[in-house]
Amino acid sequence: MSKPSVGIFGLTGCAGDQLVILNCEDQLLDIAGALNIRDFLMASSDRDAGCDLDLALVEGAVLTKRDEAALKRIRRRSKLLMALGTCAVWGGVAAMDRDADRSKLLGEIYGDLGAGYDSVPARALREVVQVDLNITGCPIEKEQFLSAVANLLNGDPPLFPSYPVCAECKMRENNCLLIEKSELCCGPLTVAGCDARCPGLGVPCVGCRGPADDANVASALAMFQGKSVPREKIAAKLRTFAPMPGDRS
Ligand code: SF4
Ligand code: SF4
Repeated sequence: MSKPSVGIFGLTGCAGDQLVILNCEDQLLDIAGALNIRDFLMASSDRDAGCDLDLALVEGAVLTKRDEAALKRIRRRSKLLMALGTCAVWGGVAAMDRDADRSKLLGEIYGDLGAGYDSVPARALREVVQVDLNITGCPIEKEQFLSAVANLLNGDPPLFPSYPVCAECKMRENNCLLIEKSELCCGPLTVAGCDARCPGLGVPCVGCRGPADDANVASALAMFQGKSVPREKIAAKLRTFAPMPGDRS
């Protein structure tokens, strides 16, 4: 069987998800052996920027017209497109104030030059093109990336948790920061997959992985309210990275 041809791309973002891939040091040779990586500019300038691909992995959000054109080009080239990281899946930090007056923001930061910048309100990839698969995380978890690659090579769809971070906290037997210390922890509404990294270190979850499909939103909001945390406060915190559950599809 021929190896699947793969491209790995970055739009506007911090490149952290591509770095996670490059940091798979123990598995990197296996990955390079199993996949025909044709276009990965961050790893090699020796690339084929025009070939057809079986799988395109794209990190970053769409923040410029140039991003939009690049993403549409990638989509045309690839059979499957996987969004990589919270920016690509949800819009990320850059989408936090995407409804704000953009020309005013650009003027405040860049003065008269602001009007000339190629800058549009941040969008997740699926708001621009069809996306087939998502790996969320800020950045993505290496284990989820590796298991997704292994699944795809076996012809299976990757499976990720849809339950909230709190479930991982329970598995780790962490003391609950929300219940025991009344700290504003976004774990009840945030999708698991990070092994409850922050609460495991005594730090409240800030929701960097985006919303959990299986979160019991009504119950979580009632719990926050019981701790005198108004809905607006938890919503503002969650919207740093992604929409509140129910904000947008
Ligand atoms: S510490 Fe946070 S993530 Fe952990 S169980 Fe409590 S609310 Fe959930
Ligand atoms: S605990 Fe929350 S903030 Fe920390 S890595 Fe996991 S999802 Fe992100």
